[in-house]
Amino acid sequence: MRKKPRLDPAEQARLDGIVAQFRVEFKCKEDGIEAIFSTLQREGVLVCDCGGCAGITREYGSYFFRCKSCGKKTWFLAGTFFARIRCPLAWLLAIRLFENGIVVNASELASLTGVAVSSAQMMLKKIMVAIQAKMPVESAVLPSAWLLDAVMRRTIRTPAQGHPKDEQFEFEKEYLLQEAKKAKSTDTTYSANVVALAQRIYDQLAREKNKLHFDHICGQDNFGLVSMATDYLQSAGLIKAMPGDWYIATTHEALDVRTAMTAANGLRGMYTEHAEKAILMVDALLAYLVGTYQGISRKYIQLYLSAYWYRLDESVRGRDSLFKHCCLAGPVTHHMLRIYVSPLMLKVMPIPEWAPIPQAQ
Ligand SMILES: [Zn+2]
Repeated sequence: MRKKPRLDPAEQARLDGIVAQFRVEFKCKEDGIEAIFSTLQREGVLVCDCGGCAGITREYGSYFFRCKSCGKKTWFLAGTFFARIRCPLAWLLAIRLFENGIVVNASELASLTGVAVSSAQMMLKKIMVAIQAKMPVESAVLPSAWLLDAVMRRTIRTPAQGHPKDEQFEFEKEYLLQEAKKAKSTDTTYSANVVALAQRIYDQLAREKNKLHFDHICGQDNFGLVSMATDYLQSAGLIKAMPGDWYIATTHEALDVRTAMTAANGLRGMYTEHAEKAILMVDALLAYLVGTYQGISRKYIQLYLSAYWYRLDESVRGRDSLFKHCCLAGPVTHHMLRIYVSPLMLKVMPIPEWAPIPQAQ
């Protein structure tokens, strides 16, 4: 049975046209290197360390130039976005597709260019990092928790026994712990006796390192107050309820419970504050993430959203605009991708108004 093509016929025809045109322009690897070289040269960034002004010599398609003043060879891709690329044409085609508002996934890019799917995946991510740098600072944001339905892929951050979605809970927990370690809160949202009780329960569980039963936690205390305190502790991510009314601490650090609870409240506030504007886009974004990529990881979700914005915002997508941006951008290394983590609040679209609300493809 043939799989239904992902792109509609019009979009597919446009893609085919762009690829055909690209192949006329770029026949071999050297053509690709030459395009990067001429762009860098036009920008005036190709100068020898010696500062000599006698000019340079170079052969067509070569990865280096030679200084006419001192004779030194310079590998001009070193330290740039394109440092150590092996398949310049694959990179350039991927960039060209982005510039034309066509988003392909890794296997589609692989079959268009002949590179391995894993290489294509890495290329797309690195280009998306470059795109993300172009995203305006003032952007509408959306809680990453709202896009969890598209999170299906594991990364190094996924807990060993967990689901890819668990990265979100871990990340929120880290955030809350960090907040809780900051200056002690003097917030009076919670009554002093509940806070004191919550602190006692947390200290006990954190010290214990084993699960404790609710009845044991209750002891001589009032049942209602203990329930309230454990609810607060759970929503602050400090303890976890387990089947059969058992509880366990999620961390064993000495923490001020009031501060942790205030941080959790702040996080919820942050989520609802942006609800009105961004909630209208959630369905379209989920359809895009699942439809295009068959699900993504939490770790890189921000990169995919940048690509979504870029595709829809024609005003930023001039011919060779992304290519030029990449030529002048610094390198995006494997290490940078490894330590990259999408923030809690994801940038989605530039403010001010974005109208109409973008539709899924
Ligand atoms: Zn020189």
